[in-house]
Amino acid sequence: MLLAIMKLIRSGPLGSETPGVLLPDGTRIDVSAAVGDFDEAFFAADGPFELQRWLAVHSTTAPGLDPAARLGAPIQRPSKIVCIGLNFRDHAVESGMPLPAEPVIFFKSTTALAGPDDDVVIPRGGTKLDWEVELAVVIGRRASYVAVDHALNHVAGYALHNDYSERSFQLERGGQWVKGKSADTFAPLGPFLATVDELPNPGHLGMWLSVNGTRAQNSSTSQMIFGVATLVSYVSEFMTLLPGDVISTGTPAGVGLGIKPEPRYLAAGDIVELGIEGLGAQRQRIVAYAGC
Ligand code: ZN
Repeated sequence: MLLAIMKLIRSGPLGSETPGVLLPDGTRIDVSAAVGDFDEAFFAADGPFELQRWLAVHSTTAPGLDPAARLGAPIQRPSKIVCIGLNFRDHAVESGMPLPAEPVIFFKSTTALAGPDDDVVIPRGGTKLDWEVELAVVIGRRASYVAVDHALNHVAGYALHNDYSERSFQLERGGQWVKGKSADTFAPLGPFLATVDELPNPGHLGMWLSVNGTRAQNSSTSQMIFGVATLVSYVSEFMTLLPGDVISTGTPAGVGLGIKPEPRYLAAGDIVELGIEGLGAQRQRIVAYAGC
């Protein structure tokens, strides 16, 4: 079977990113001659395999991308960002919640999507901005009622995600968590999408997050209660997952909400850095809301 082993990136100004590939030596290649964008149509048409074929011929002659240019999210805005709550034993405990018998599912607005190093904006009225390092799964093939043992065939790849949360909106304003998860810039994704064959074992990846240089989260995807295949299968019982859709698989202990004796929330000027083994690192500066 043909393996697709690539790191997909999108580079350039917000809203006009160019699709590219990050080579092992760090070079960024422009693949816009072969790919419109990393979107639903790309993944639905087995885009990673086709792109790999194209690269075998063109990687040495394709134009480069500016290595200093901004990176956007490595996929175009998807139809859904599905998040899994309380999926790490230690995080469920620190949140004071019982271990879930079934995965907890909530949505995050797709307009929250941002580049990996973009500034994160405290939303108007926000007072409890919090961080969550997470492994994001990007769907490759339409998934509806998929069995666990077939689920990874429906995955295109993985990316690093910071599931930002405004806890006062999430927990003190009634109704569903989506309120506190969906502000603009609340879903930095990237720096790249690692195709599924790049990370054959997503269940054993170290993950970490620091605030102003102090380590806050330090764990591994091996602490997940429900693993990637189980989650893809489970979510597909309740909705059809389309190519390019994102499932964010939950965060380990060490969020601001869980810090004792007092929670620690983010303020303008704070710097958040995070990473997952094999998926690179992100760095965000927190800024105040400046709109009207
Ligand atoms: Zn989360």
